[in-house]
Amino acid sequence: MISLILLAPPAAGKGTLSHLLEEEYHLEHISTGDLLREEIKKETPLGKQIKSVIDEGAFVSDDVIIRLIEQKLTSPSCKNGYILDGFPRNIAQAQAYDALLKKLHLSLGKVLLLEADKDLLEKRTVGRRICENCGAIYNIYVKESLPKEENICDRCHGPLIKRKDDSIAVFQARYQTYLEKTHPLIDYYRGKGVLYTIDATTGKDQMLVYAKKIIDCE
Ligand code: AMP
Repeated sequence: MISLILLAPPAAGKGTLSHLLEEEYHLEHISTGDLLREEIKKETPLGKQIKSVIDEGAFVSDDVIIRLIEQKLTSPSCKNGYILDGFPRNIAQAQAYDALLKKLHLSLGKVLLLEADKDLLEKRTVGRRICENCGAIYNIYVKESLPKEENICDRCHGPLIKRKDDSIAVFQARYQTYLEKTHPLIDYYRGKGVLYTIDATTGKDQMLVYAKKIIDCE
């Protein structure tokens, strides 16, 4: 069974690579950001709380996130393997995930670290567009990620929208949160011998080639 963690600063392409790997290996794509955005759409009291946290570029509480992950990992959709996109995001979540894996008799798998510099990430953030229906990701400043028709999803013809947290100000806050909270996970997973680095400046096709080499090598 393949299980992957994608570790990356904001807008490095973890959503895009996850979609490609999901198709290539028939894995369940677990995006905590998407799960949270679904909760917001339902307009529940929890959804309203989550919205204000995301809009500030901060992190949602570990308890909420770990509950969402446990629900997903114990569902039949994950039995052939899964990709974690956006989780774990700090050391406490990584430790809770280790405990959950032990409880469910699952192994850690591989951690793919996507690397790109801050200026490029900022530009990608501002140009990112997302399909409101299926979550497919496009970028108006990246030639190979342009939709065929302006503001229309190639996959499902849904409308493309800009996420509210894709502004420069929120990007700065999210990047800072990444450095403080998520960056320490690099050493955490390097210490476990499961960390692999991918150059995320190369475009999605090349990223997929790199990722496949890592995943297919025993
Ligand atoms: P993403 O779609 O992965 O960029 O996530 C969007 C936002 O959702 C993040 O900026 C956080 O506010 C929140 N979020 C997503 N995943 C997590 C997580 N594992 N822990 C805490 N907050 C999260």
